[in-house]
Amino acid sequence: MHEERSGAVKEHAVVIAGGGPTGLMLAAELSLARIDVAIVERRVTQDVAGSRAGGLHSRTIEVLDQRGIADRFLSQGKVMQVAGFAMVPLDISDFPTRHNYGLALWQEGIERGLASWAAELSVPVYRGLEVTGFAQDEAGVDVELSDGRRLRAKYLVGCDGGRSLIRKKAGIDFPGWEPSLTYLIAEVEMTGAPVGGIRRDARGINGLGKMEDGKRVRVVLNEPEIRQGNEPTLDDLREALIAVYGDDFGVHSVTWLSRFSDAARQAASYRERRVLLAGDAAHVHSPAGGQGLNIGVQDAVNLGWKLGQVVKGTSPESLLDTYHAERHPIGARVLESTLAQTALNRGDERTRAARETMAELLKMDEPRKRYAGRMSGLDVHYDLGAGHPLLGRRMPDLDLDTDSGPRRVFTLLHEGRPVLLNLGEPGALVIAPWADRVKHIDARYAGAWELPVLGAVTAPAAVVIRPDGHVAWVGDGTDEGLREALTTWFGPPM
Ligand SMILES: Cc1cc2nc3c(=O)[nH]c(=O)nc-3n(C[C@H](O)[C@H](O)[C@H](O)COP(=O)(O)OP(=O)(O)OC[C@H]3O[C@@H](n4cnc5c(N)ncnc54)[C@H](O)[C@@H]3O)c2cc1C
Repeated sequence: MHEERSGAVKEHAVVIAGGGPTGLMLAAELSLARIDVAIVERRVTQDVAGSRAGGLHSRTIEVLDQRGIADRFLSQGKVMQVAGFAMVPLDISDFPTRHNYGLALWQEGIERGLASWAAELSVPVYRGLEVTGFAQDEAGVDVELSDGRRLRAKYLVGCDGGRSLIRKKAGIDFPGWEPSLTYLIAEVEMTGAPVGGIRRDARGINGLGKMEDGKRVRVVLNEPEIRQGNEPTLDDLREALIAVYGDDFGVHSVTWLSRFSDAARQAASYRERRVLLAGDAAHVHSPAGGQGLNIGVQDAVNLGWKLGQVVKGTSPESLLDTYHAERHPIGARVLESTLAQTALNRGDERTRAARETMAELLKMDEPRKRYAGRMSGLDVHYDLGAGHPLLGRRMPDLDLDTDSGPRRVFTLLHEGRPVLLNLGEPGALVIAPWADRVKHIDARYAGAWELPVLGAVTAPAAVVIRPDGHVAWVGDGTDEGLREALTTWFGPPM
């Protein structure tokens, strides 16, 4: 490789383009797995322009709890019921999880929490720099930075948002739906007294609400026609206010003004040899339902341990294909749900009738549970084949009795290592060839086994829990299938 401009090429096992929520989570996961990972981030600080995401759903809180860092988010935000479908609230307070709620917390607070964790794990961040290009070969990826420097990595992950340069340069298709609607979002002051709350019009939803400082107003307005470009003007904002409210309320002192749309697109592949995509780089859609940041963080948690094992050489590269296989369907169903919600949010009479029909259905227990499971992320089920209902689903955070005292299941996952949890005869399962990779815990649990949406399931004699908290094997009192599962997920015996 040519290195004319800036001396030695710095090497990392993994380079992540983009230090938003997805990139930060992935970097921390890799660092936990003792992988030399670095982030390249365009922004000089972690400040987030404007508000963007407004919170976390239950499964994301669980995922943070699995790493022992949920409290730093819970203490900053407001715990509340946040799940909903097309503005129909979905209460999850009867769901069998410790976090039977969501968290209202602006994206900046979420990013700061993740950034502080990544810093504690000593993840280096090349700040104020962009990845401008890359070239991959058999052994790795040369990554070009905007200051002329280059990095060399075994893998490059694009966590660089919806306009992902990594996705484009990797030649990965991004098929989907063109926008049917564009929105202005702004933080402003107003001399007039704006009407608060949500107002629905023929195209969709509009909202004006006082911000936390009691002075500024947060504005979300659909535009009279589809407009492109990320830099709307104050005149665009005035025009949209008048179109919806008949008044511009003397809008002034704009501290943030941006545009988003309901375009829905998903990367055709989450991997192109040594280049992977996660978060908005892999999927964009309307914010309806508040899913984007949440599924980005969960992409990262699915990918981190797999990439770590492949980099270490304990698992073959083919393990990375399970990342696409498991996460692409999750992104696809989020796109579907945002298309449906955008349609249902229109204000004409026919759509109102459809929305009210849906709202009535969602008040019934089974549909509410089904959709609440989906919007909270608690129902995620990776297809790991037929078997016990736990297989491929999230492991519940049970209160266990172990020889070293009471332990919660999630605390066993803090180090991001897989766990064989034996609830049967102590010492009955032998996993010597994987002993350095898989934590082996004998424990007792006498309570009920209940899964969100599904309800009660039969108690297993043992489970293998992946570092992302999903169950990879369920024992029936024998070790049938255990070696195969350990080999598939954590590499061949050594
Ligand atoms: C109005 C609005 C409301 C939303 N509400 C919600 C919500 O309630 N809940 C929810 O879950 N989601 C919501 N979202 C979506 C959420 O904001 C995104 O899904 C989330 O930010 C995606 O995180 P990410 O890390 O994948 O990408 P991003 O947050 O876009 O981060 C990408 C990072 O990469 C950096 N970058 C880009 N290109 C380069 C490059 N070439 N080199 C180096 N760095 C680069 C950027 O500076 C940025 O920091 C909302 C979005 C909007 C616009």
